[in-house]
Amino acid sequence: MGDDAGRYAPSPSGDLHVGNLRTALLAWLFARSTGRRFLMRMEDLDDRTVDGADARQLADLADLGLDWDPPMLYQSSRRDRYDAVIDSLTAAGRTFDCYCTRREILEAPRAPHAPEGAYPGTCLRLTDDELARRRETGRPPAIRLRTDVDEFIVDDGRHGSYSGTVDDFVLRRGDGTPAYNLAVVVDDAESGVEQVVRGDDLLASAPRQAYLATLLGYEPPAYWHVPLVVNAQGKRLSKRDGAVTLTDLAAQGVSAQDVLDAMARSLNLAAEAESVTAAQLLDRFDPAVLPREPWVWV
Ligand code: GLU
Repeated sequence: MGDDAGRYAPSPSGDLHVGNLRTALLAWLFARSTGRRFLMRMEDLDDRTVDGADARQLADLADLGLDWDPPMLYQSSRRDRYDAVIDSLTAAGRTFDCYCTRREILEAPRAPHAPEGAYPGTCLRLTDDELARRRETGRPPAIRLRTDVDEFIVDDGRHGSYSGTVDDFVLRRGDGTPAYNLAVVVDDAESGVEQVVRGDDLLASAPRQAYLATLLGYEPPAYWHVPLVVNAQGKRLSKRDGAVTLTDLAAQGVSAQDVLDAMARSLNLAAEAESVTAAQLLDRFDPAVLPREPWVWV
C-alpha cells in the first residue's frame, strides 16, 4: 500500500450539507481504516466557486474530527497539466472539436439504441463546408474525446460490476474550462488515489472516467459509491432543504457533535443516544454493515 490514498473532492461552491459531510466521513473511514493517506482536493474549476467556501468546508470537516494529509490540491492550479493531457490525446488522434450547443445535442436525431444523454456524434460527421460554417461563427469549440467503446465496466465495492455508457464526452469546454471527467481522472491518478469513495449520484460517470484512465495508461481506482442523504420526498438533499449545514444547524442548537452522532447511527456505527468520536468510528468501521439505502434527513 504505502503511497496509496483515498480522497474527498468537494466543489467549493458553498457550505457542505449533511449529505456532503456524510460522504466525506465515509471516504475518510474507508481510507484511514485501510492505512491509506487521505487527500483533500478542491474542485474549483468552474464559475460556481465561491471565495472562502474552501476554508469553511475544511473547518466543518475538522469540526467533525476528520483530518487529511498534504498536499491539498486546488484544481485551478493544474490547468496547464490538464491542457497538456488534452494536447497529448489530440496528438494521438483521440479528440475532436465540437461546436454543438446544448440545444442542438438535445434535438439531434439519434440512433434508436443510443443511450439517453449520450453525444449524438454531430460534429464527427460534418462535411468540410459545414465545418467551415461552424468555425466562422467564431464560437470556440469544446474538445471531445473520440471513444471507441459504447460501454465500460467498473468494479464497485457496493454495486459490484457496473456497466455504463461511455460517449464522446467533453474534455474541455468551449470557454476553456477543463471538464470534470478529465480533471478527476488526471488528479486521482497523479496524486496516488486508488480508492474513490463518493456519492451514488456519480456512479454513472465512473465508466467514462475509468475508460479515460485506461486510455491514459492509468489503473482505474477501486470505487465505492455510497448511498446519498435524501429529503422527506426521497430527493437528494440540497441547500433548499432548510437547515442542512453545520452553521445553519448550530443556529438551531444542533452541534457538530450531534451531527456526527446522527451520521454514526445512520451508518450502523453507534447506538441510539450514544456520543462518539471520529476515532471511535474508525475502530468500529466495517463496510459490510453499511446500509444499502439512502438516509432520510428530516
Ligand atoms: N466535486 C464533486 C462533487 O462535489 C465530486 C467529484 C468526485 O468525487 O469524483 O460532487
